[in-house]
Amino acid sequence: MGEILQQRFLAKAMKSGKTLMIFSIFTRFSVLGLLCTLAMLTEYNNLKIAYNHPRLVELSSGPAMRVFYESTDKFFSIFGEPAEMAQRNGGMTWSIRIMGTPFTDPVAALSVLAKSRRWELGFALGLLAPIGLALIFGRVFCSYVCPASLLFFAIARFRRILRKYFYFPDYSLPGGFAWGVLAGGLGVAVWIGHGIWSLLLPYFALGQTLFQGIAFGSLSVSLGSLIVFSILDLCLGRQFTCRYVCPTGRLLGFMGQKSLVSIKRDATECLTSCQACVDICPMKVNPKMDETVDCSLCGECLVICPTHCLSISPRNWKTSS
Ligand code: SF4
Ligand code: SF4
Ligand code: SF4
Repeated sequence: MGEILQQRFLAKAMKSGKTLMIFSIFTRFSVLGLLCTLAMLTEYNNLKIAYNHPRLVELSSGPAMRVFYESTDKFFSIFGEPAEMAQRNGGMTWSIRIMGTPFTDPVAALSVLAKSRRWELGFALGLLAPIGLALIFGRVFCSYVCPASLLFFAIARFRRILRKYFYFPDYSLPGGFAWGVLAGGLGVAVWIGHGIWSLLLPYFALGQTLFQGIAFGSLSVSLGSLIVFSILDLCLGRQFTCRYVCPTGRLLGFMGQKSLVSIKRDATECLTSCQACVDICPMKVNPKMDETVDCSLCGECLVICPTHCLSISPRNWKTSS
């Protein structure tokens, strides 16, 4: 009895799609903020090496940089020697260390393996978090971590407005296209270098663009990729890039196809004439047919479902309304 009550309570709590959507926007903006901070750390390290004194920093770079320098210095001094800590927390989007904990991008890990045929231990350990996340929650990285999805989320809304006035068709590609992008990218990485991912992976492109802009005050060629991805999404279909082009999404969808937590439907409450969850899903998952592969647990279908018969819960729990 207690277990049934607990299941009902958790299922109801998880039904709150709106909360999930707000939370996902918050977490992705936090990642965006983290990327900007990592880029700023380069500037902090430069100031530290060149001046190492707030007054001198202000004289050289202005009052705003003095505030940035002082606050960064104060923050990192909690954990140890500030410049060393700042460097330890630096990195690019594909291999970030946060307070000493490594996070490695799965595609980057494959790229390193393909090119150098070995992994450093820290680099390999960094895979635990993204793979564990995919095995438990599926493609949740896409809705809660990937900062590029914020851009695609915004473009999808813009596209929805434009569709009231213009004809925008929905195109699709074979699901294997992203595997082809992965294979091609790995080939180019072995041949030329890992820089190719800054053009092929949307969130790398975004990270590189931010890093180049903030750390060096210049435009990155990755910005061109972001523009191409944006045009694809606008002209060919909602989250087209995520569904058909991005290899990370395909890889995570594959790893998470039997995830422990998934979207669930209470068939007794589902309306035969309704199609709302299918129409709203940005990943073109069909919750009405109990599809779960590629679901990023974004919560949009939970919000739109008129009978609230969808929930997010452990895969082997029975749904209850
Ligand atoms: S498919 Fe790729 S770009 Fe899209 S949200 Fe997922 S990781 Fe980000
Ligand atoms: S089925 Fe689609 S709309 Fe529903 S949570 Fe998954 S990705 Fe979002
Ligand atoms: S939105 Fe809800 S009621 Fe409509 S088809 Fe989907 S699960 Fe069924």
